[in-house]
Amino acid sequence: MPESAYQRLPWQEEIWFRLQQARKQERLPHALLFTGPAGVGKVNFAFAFTQSLLCAQADDRGEPCGVCRHCHLLLTGNHPDFQWIGPEEGSKSGEIRIASVRELTKDVSLTTQSGGYKVVIVSPADRMNSAAANSLLKTLEEPVSNTLLMLISDNPSRLLPTIRSRCQQFTFPYPEQNEAIAWLTERVASGDPESLLALAGGAPLLALDMLGDDTITKRQSAFKAFIDLSQARIDPVKIAAEWSKQDDKQLLEWLTGWLVDMLRLQVTGQPPLLYNREDKQALQRMAQPLNSAALQRFLLQVYEARRLTDNNLNSQLMLEKLLIDWYACLHRAGR
Ligand SMILES: [Zn+2]
Repeated sequence: MPESAYQRLPWQEEIWFRLQQARKQERLPHALLFTGPAGVGKVNFAFAFTQSLLCAQADDRGEPCGVCRHCHLLLTGNHPDFQWIGPEEGSKSGEIRIASVRELTKDVSLTTQSGGYKVVIVSPADRMNSAAANSLLKTLEEPVSNTLLMLISDNPSRLLPTIRSRCQQFTFPYPEQNEAIAWLTERVASGDPESLLALAGGAPLLALDMLGDDTITKRQSAFKAFIDLSQARIDPVKIAAEWSKQDDKQLLEWLTGWLVDMLRLQVTGQPPLLYNREDKQALQRMAQPLNSAALQRFLLQVYEARRLTDNNLNSQLMLEKLLIDWYACLHRAGR
């Protein structure tokens, strides 16, 4: 891959090869759907594949040259035959609205500027509202030759089944742990790539994101509150008030990780996989006196809360209830 190219990731070679074969045999479908967990590089891949299609002199394996006019236009965000459809900037709902999709339907009916491919990426495709989704469906029903739509989604079950069925789906897996750690090691200046990867649930790009913002600090302070609560040093209502100002989805994910690790630590002192390796001792101390069935039941409650977060209007109330139940769960253990 040349330097001046969108980089695909080492664990995506198989999908790359399959799509390049299809391109060479001129049997690329009109629409692709890239699914799989967040943070494994679906968007990177879509950009890399776009460059491969638009480059004027991609080689036999589909590697773009990185220097032609098309590569340059794409890399600088100005290629006339490429379009990115996502939520509007600053949009509160994060929805993709019909106006964005209408632009596309108007556009794809025109011939391409270069005589080559026209490429459209829709991401996250599951955030199209129903008007936008129906409008896109019309485009999918009347495909235009040499136009490729790439839909990207972490939650494909939220897409209209009629949209899903018109796309060829590729599922992007988590990379092998060794591969992901090797990749992260090259990019992380300090800290332990292995812990970071575990914290990100095995998703390398998520791990990298966490380094770039204050996620780690926030997580540490949430974990401290969680410990303080279990030692009855802080009121659950107070923590809920604090947590409700933050991203509740993220907090519930962390909480899940702590509970899952506690369950793993109840089985063996040396579990092969832990989300929170650096907090192992604290989690072990907390897990030790707890009744495993009660811990399991509480974890199910957290899963249920996660399932409801999208429609939850009062996250403070939800968190209060969870933390009070957790407190009760700890104290039933006879502390
Ligand atoms: Zn090129």
